[in-house]
Amino acid sequence: MRSVYSPRLLNGPFGDPAFYVRLAHRSEALLFDCGELRRLPTREALKISTVFISHAHIDHMVGFDTLLRSFLYHDRTLLVYGPAGIADQIRGRLSGYTWNLTDGYPLVLIVREWDNGPGREVTFRAANAFLPEGEQLWDGAGDLLLASDYLQVRALALDHGGIVSLAFALQEPLHVAIHKDALERYGYRQGVWLVGFKDLLRSGAAADTLLDVPLVDGGKIVLGLGELQAQIAHTERGMKIVYVTDVAPTTANQEMIAVFARDAHLLAIEAVFPHAEFPRALERNHLTAQIAGELGRRAGAARLLTFHHSPRYQDQPELLTAEAMAAFSSNDASA
Ligand SMILES: [Zn+2]
Ligand SMILES: [Zn+2]
Repeated sequence: MRSVYSPRLLNGPFGDPAFYVRLAHRSEALLFDCGELRRLPTREALKISTVFISHAHIDHMVGFDTLLRSFLYHDRTLLVYGPAGIADQIRGRLSGYTWNLTDGYPLVLIVREWDNGPGREVTFRAANAFLPEGEQLWDGAGDLLLASDYLQVRALALDHGGIVSLAFALQEPLHVAIHKDALERYGYRQGVWLVGFKDLLRSGAAADTLLDVPLVDGGKIVLGLGELQAQIAHTERGMKIVYVTDVAPTTANQEMIAVFARDAHLLAIEAVFPHAEFPRALERNHLTAQIAGELGRRAGAARLLTFHHSPRYQDQPELLTAEAMAAFSSNDASA
């Protein structure tokens, strides 16, 4: 499958969690957790449309001010999702600065809390000194935080030592693959019109919806959506990326993660300690590398990416990844 999402860990496996996912062919990115962001170029920061915060421990929020700094002069609305309480925590961050000269600034932050159901939504506008306003109840559809023709993001609440840490699943509703050889055969020009074509298919538009198709030799022809699909495209299950971090290694958490991450194309999951340190993992409410790998295998994930490695293992940089990968690729069903 041609990847529609380009994910990367901004701070590597040992740094603060910040998982940046760029959406192919769109000037848009999503950010999962807000760890240190100073290395993210402003031009890439400004692609971020939505930020998903797992929980507000400092290693997951410390980059928020850097992000705000990048957005401050821009006419943008930044959407932030997090667990219950996140709106007050962001309010606290914002109230730590003086905002007497931002009257004309158009930036708007909308913060939505998710707590296994409807949650608070609070708006903060630069033009209003980022004072909280417009508080209302935001009613998500079950666990669905965000939905458009080209992406869905769902949340799962997990236990992290008595607080909630949210896991997130980013999924393409339907994957549309374009046959490049067919494009050439018909003489259709490649270009941004294909993004619109894919969006129409994903939105379930009628087969007789008419489209302008640009030709390599110049000019265009008009075709029905169904006819064009038969010529140049096929559809398959959409790409799924799951992000899991800061969760206690309890049976209850593991059961929920294995279901939530079912058939993911990529499971990005914390692997903080080696399994030999399981008592420490339990005490610190984090997963071991072996458990991370086992969860990937149980979920049937195609790829595993581990992060949030404890700095204690920095002198053995491959140790945790290797342990996770061994458990991930193990054939021992009893493991
Ligand atoms: Zn953490
Ligand atoms: Zn934490």
